[in-house]
Amino acid sequence: MTIIDKDGKILFYSFEDFYRRIVIGSDCFICGASQDSKKFNNEHILPDWLLTKYKLHNKTITLANAAQFQYGRYTVPCCEECNSDLGKNIEIPVSKLLKLSYSEICQAITTDQSNLHLLFKWLMLIFFKTHLKDTEFNWNLDPRKGTGKIGETYDWQDMHHIHCMIRKDYTNAIVDTNTIGSIFIVPAIQHTSIEPFDFTDNTDGKTIMIRLDEFCVICVLNDSCGTYSLFKDDIAKIKGALTPFQLREIFTHVVYINLNLKERPVYYSQFSENAEYHIKAKIPETAELVPEEERQITHGELLYHYCKDMIGPVENKKTILNEIKMGKRRYLLNDSGEFINHSKDL
Ligand SMILES: [Zn+2]
Repeated sequence: MTIIDKDGKILFYSFEDFYRRIVIGSDCFICGASQDSKKFNNEHILPDWLLTKYKLHNKTITLANAAQFQYGRYTVPCCEECNSDLGKNIEIPVSKLLKLSYSEICQAITTDQSNLHLLFKWLMLIFFKTHLKDTEFNWNLDPRKGTGKIGETYDWQDMHHIHCMIRKDYTNAIVDTNTIGSIFIVPAIQHTSIEPFDFTDNTDGKTIMIRLDEFCVICVLNDSCGTYSLFKDDIAKIKGALTPFQLREIFTHVVYINLNLKERPVYYSQFSENAEYHIKAKIPETAELVPEEERQITHGELLYHYCKDMIGPVENKKTILNEIKMGKRRYLLNDSGEFINHSKDL
């Protein structure tokens, strides 16, 4: 049931209303205002400060249907008021946080939990906007072959929780700390041959990765740190800055773990008698993976998907790609499980 407070503010969308008004419809994705009731100016999926910093306005993102779309026009419906609030509450503070160096950001996050929560909220917001936008794009670039949208294939039940989380500042929901997912911040190699910015995500794995100059943030949105507890020993082996291939390998390990968690957290909204809104999580006691035979995809297949376009026109490209797919080629750790340090190579 959709819950509206005495001032008419939508605190909680039922799944049906969320799907009809936000996913399929074009109401403001924060307050739910219709386009004819308020002034809209639409919200950039990747924020303007980031597009400016990395000169991305005229560059393109590759969509799931392989089409290219200009970052400058990559926006979702949002009213002017909510857009301005998102700027004040999230973008301004997060842009300050992400301007820090790798060591400074690690310190800022360990000494002040609110920085971690801010970063998590920002990553959720980008992930949600990216997927919401996909409800506008056709799977087939040729409309004669069908007009089904990319976003129609997504599991919007899971996105419903993410939507509740990103509306937290608007609804004043009290969010339990155990709803926070795994966040990995790792150092990245900087070099003239490497683009300073990278962005990718995995829909089913609810994982997002953003590299900004000398560090990379990889975050699982719906695991309540289950992935972290299974992957922290490997992360601890990292002793230097990482190549783009190593970063994508970490990303795929994290996706692979999250896709295969045996028990998952359950998220829910609760209203107390004094009308306080809480977002809570019921967490499994232990984090473990389903048996190997029940896993839908191999780690090699995932790594192949996320690295195939990064390999240039080398002679043995086909062999390399095949080895990645078969799980015979890794970038992060050698056969003895030791970190492969490339930070001194460049
Ligand atoms: Zn709004």
